[in-house]
Amino acid sequence: MHKNEVLYVVQLRAIPRSTGIGTLELAILDECSLENKLSRQYTPAGERSVVMFGKLLRFVLRNRMSVLLLMLSVVMVSASIAPDTSGTPFTWGLDDNGNPITGLRWGQGDTINVFIEPDPDPTPPDRSQLLRDGIMRWQGEMAARGITVNATVGDPPNPPPSGTVRCTYEPSGTQRGGHTLGSGPGQDDAIATADGNTEDGITGGEIIVRDDIPAGTPGQQDHIRNIGEHELTHILGLGDDANGVVTNHTQGDTPNVFNDTDRREIGQLYPLPQQNVPQGQGNTQSSMNPNQYDWDFHYVGPSDGHVALITMSVPPELIVYVIPPSGWLVLNPADTEHRSLDYPFYENYMECGSPGQAPWDPSYTAPLAFRPQSEEEALSATNPSVHVTLFTNGAIRGEMSAWAGGPAQTLTGPVLDASQIPTVSEWGVAAIALLLIGTGIVLIRRRLRGHCSE
Ligand SMILES: [Zn+2]
Repeated sequence: MHKNEVLYVVQLRAIPRSTGIGTLELAILDECSLENKLSRQYTPAGERSVVMFGKLLRFVLRNRMSVLLLMLSVVMVSASIAPDTSGTPFTWGLDDNGNPITGLRWGQGDTINVFIEPDPDPTPPDRSQLLRDGIMRWQGEMAARGITVNATVGDPPNPPPSGTVRCTYEPSGTQRGGHTLGSGPGQDDAIATADGNTEDGITGGEIIVRDDIPAGTPGQQDHIRNIGEHELTHILGLGDDANGVVTNHTQGDTPNVFNDTDRREIGQLYPLPQQNVPQGQGNTQSSMNPNQYDWDFHYVGPSDGHVALITMSVPPELIVYVIPPSGWLVLNPADTEHRSLDYPFYENYMECGSPGQAPWDPSYTAPLAFRPQSEEEALSATNPSVHVTLFTNGAIRGEMSAWAGGPAQTLTGPVLDASQIPTVSEWGVAAIALLLIGTGIVLIRRRLRGHCSE
């Protein structure tokens, strides 16, 4: 192992908020298996907007070469916030190493074409139409996730289009994959099978419905709609979820509505764009003064999330004056007072007792950064917009990276001309370091909030 390579093991634990206390733990193992455990207690009333800020910052700065690996750890944190659900994506057998293959899904932009066999029973109501009604409830749900769902009654054209799923009626007793159609105990009204492989994902499938499923009463008709809707869960590559409605193995006789558990389940394979990432979407405002830059950051994200750190890669030599959002503190790397350990920006910044560069270290080039002084002033659904103004000393306009939750953004900002660009890319390191920390904060906070009942 290279000297600077570090194996990260990230473990997050949250104790329900009602207990009044929780432990957040980050365990880091290096190549010597030295365990450097960082833990911090917090209380619900405590200021938590920079939980882990200092420890992580110092750590990243000491391990610049490992930034990529830290990114990996952030991915692991992200994965670890996957919600608790009893349902899981289907398991698709074992791979060459004997590990279960999970997570096969339809590709972004795919169209699922369900062709439903005409009802062999001519007695109204038309059960095929009921199945179609249920399946089509997915159309809006999946369109937002980049998947088109179409369902029609009738045979597919020849040759069938890509993404074809056949839905047919079969007699009770028909088996698929260890399941049996029927109305008896342990038997199913319908069975769905998705076809796919690790290379192409899911490419098609089959739904079979018992041919004697009753449709005589309004409740039975709703049950058939719900069955059609539920079976698409499995065509999408998802398992049953006992806490879901649509994803629940047991289907009732009142119309289904997707609940939060369903959507979390679906989101495991088909996340909404930025579904769970609080983010301030930056916009560069035009200004009459060529030396003045104005940016608005508008909140996008879930109603219970917020953004508590914004960073911008403005070279300090270009900064003349900064006006932070109201109620926010600025870390202006060009202001020597801001490089003092006593500057309130660093409140709650945790020393971890190891040598390393901190934002107040004069040899470290910090990005321009902002943090709210209280949670109420953070960028959120209730405080949906914050504004930053910067005055420069005649810098040229160019592309600047910024971060306000979510992915890094490119905004118009002041940049050095070619002759001024430093040879060593300290900037990227600094920006990435804060990016990662901010991401960690957001994810950690999401995790905590997700587990706490208010
Ligand atoms: Zn099921």
